[in-house]
Amino acid sequence: MNFLDFVFPKRCVVCKRAGSYLCGNCFVTLSFDVKNLCLVYNKPTFNNLTHPVCKSKYAIDGCFSAVSYNKTTKKLVSSFKYNPYFTDFQFLLTDLFYESLI
Ligand SMILES: [Zn+2]
Ligand SMILES: [Zn+2]
Repeated sequence: MNFLDFVFPKRCVVCKRAGSYLCGNCFVTLSFDVKNLCLVYNKPTFNNLTHPVCKSKYAIDGCFSAVSYNKTTKKLVSSFKYNPYFTDFQFLLTDLFYESLI
């Protein structure tokens, strides 16, 4: 435990339970069942790529989602953005991203 963990003890970012940034009860609310969507018209696509007919000069080539967007995901993202003193929070997000890739 480092000094910052002592000053700012880890709590679940969703339900505030002490111990970790994401407790087991909130972890099970994450859904790794993401749909591959073309972001231009929000239609299913193959391999997360933008449909060739949807491509334009400024369109994104594709995107990958690690988890479905819900209340828990929203709290994880906002906690990462607005709490710079969460020293090892990025490891949790990296693990979620890695888990989704598998
Ligand atoms: Zn929780
Ligand atoms: Zn498309």
